[in-house]
Amino acid sequence: MTVAGGGWETVIGLETHVQLRTASKMFCGCSAAFGAPPNTNVCPVCLGLPGALPVPNEQALKLAVRAALALGCTLHPKSVFARKNYFYPDLPKGYQISQFEQPLATQGALSYVSPERGLTTATIVRLHVEEDAGKSLHDRFPKETAIDLNRCGVPLIEIVTGPDFRSPPEARRYLQTLKQVLEYAGISDCDMEKGSLRVDANVSVRRAGATALGTKTEVKNINSFAYVEKALTVERDRQIALLEGGGVVEQQTLLYDSKTNGVRPQRSKEQSHDYRYFPDPDLPPLALTEEFIAQQQAQLPELPATKRERFMTQYALSVNDADVLTGDRAVADYYEAVVHAGADAKLAANWVINEVLADAKTHDEQLRVPPGALAQLIGLVRGGTLSQQAAKRVFAEVAERGGEPRNVAEALGVVQVGDSGVVAGWVTEVLGAHPQEVVRYKQGETKLMPFFVGQVMKVSRGKADPKLAQRILEEKLAA
Ligand code: ADP
Ligand code: MG
Ligand code: ZN
Repeated sequence: MTVAGGGWETVIGLETHVQLRTASKMFCGCSAAFGAPPNTNVCPVCLGLPGALPVPNEQALKLAVRAALALGCTLHPKSVFARKNYFYPDLPKGYQISQFEQPLATQGALSYVSPERGLTTATIVRLHVEEDAGKSLHDRFPKETAIDLNRCGVPLIEIVTGPDFRSPPEARRYLQTLKQVLEYAGISDCDMEKGSLRVDANVSVRRAGATALGTKTEVKNINSFAYVEKALTVERDRQIALLEGGGVVEQQTLLYDSKTNGVRPQRSKEQSHDYRYFPDPDLPPLALTEEFIAQQQAQLPELPATKRERFMTQYALSVNDADVLTGDRAVADYYEAVVHAGADAKLAANWVINEVLADAKTHDEQLRVPPGALAQLIGLVRGGTLSQQAAKRVFAEVAERGGEPRNVAEALGVVQVGDSGVVAGWVTEVLGAHPQEVVRYKQGETKLMPFFVGQVMKVSRGKADPKLAQRILEEKLAA
């Protein structure tokens, strides 16, 4: 396979389906919870039985409106639920309720830190509300496909970007940022393993400098952000190889197979889409009052981008540090608590990014050292009481067993004594105990210095500041 060579530009647009965090489904009272026994969370409405009427879930609409506001979209006072018609075993009604010509919201933007271009803005072309379909289970019975309709009618929003991304890593970064925003605002748990966030990735390539878009393909069936990046990379490379070989890209839907890291076309029967959209006669147009929108706006917390900018100005952090610290609401709150407890903002950022997050990664995302304790630890390093190395040991100990850093450092015997009078006392003791080595040193055997420092460390039980000890040793031995 040809690796993307020079001369080609990659163009990517993403369609993300996100399950709204509601107790019940979009148009009926059935539970929307994941993991119930198959076909137990169903009723005449979500099974599409004749005569059953849908009623919109108010909580879902609140969350959808908050999502649109969080993404800076224009909300439309009137939007229309439409039927998207197709036949598939997991769709008992024969249509999905979605929004088509008149979506809930359009024209939003999400800024994110591109690994290649730095702070970048992706356009959100539209955000609409829809219901999910059921699930076909291919691994439940040998050679048979089983259907679970629990997911039918679960509330979703679909978020569509412009063809704005220029590389697979950039697309991944946008998705991470989108997920952060939706999690911050409590809109979705964004758990890809449970299917509450699903991505369809559209990609094309064009000659560098070209303005017209190339023919795109759409890659589906991708179940992690890492796989989004991989799938886009293999598909981008496939298109380039095809074009460089004189072929043409055919517009089609592809399925990604993570086991082979390859893509294959979806069966064409599943691709021939004439959805025959029309407004759902059972649902009146969705009208949003300004008051309702304002209420949802008031429910939004400070969002990551705003927080990131505030961190940059308030704490003088780099965009990358601020980005990492604001990626997760709990981490951002933790960082601010450390600073409020008196730690230097820049040192606190380094500690949180390097030590706290690494520790959290291996300990179930727990921020195990309380903010006050970390602030104290940072102060101990700054004041010369602990070396950076010793502080890491104390950090690990506090994370594991708790306690005040000051006491833990004493107990571990790693407190540095930087008082020159005290250290000088140890030096005198050591020189007195080793008269022969003193003579040899004075005769020019300066390689004995580490021996003396080692003895001072021993006498001080590891507490002497070794640099200070050496300086005093040099002074006394020169005399
Ligand atoms: P479709 O009608 O096939 O669904 P849309 O115009 O609705 O296509 O776009 C779907 C997604 O594909 C959007 O995210 C859009 O930005 C993206 N997209 C559209 N055209 C291209 C292209 N030529 N290359 C890459 N992405 C594209
Ligand atoms: Mg589309
Ligand atoms: Zn139902």
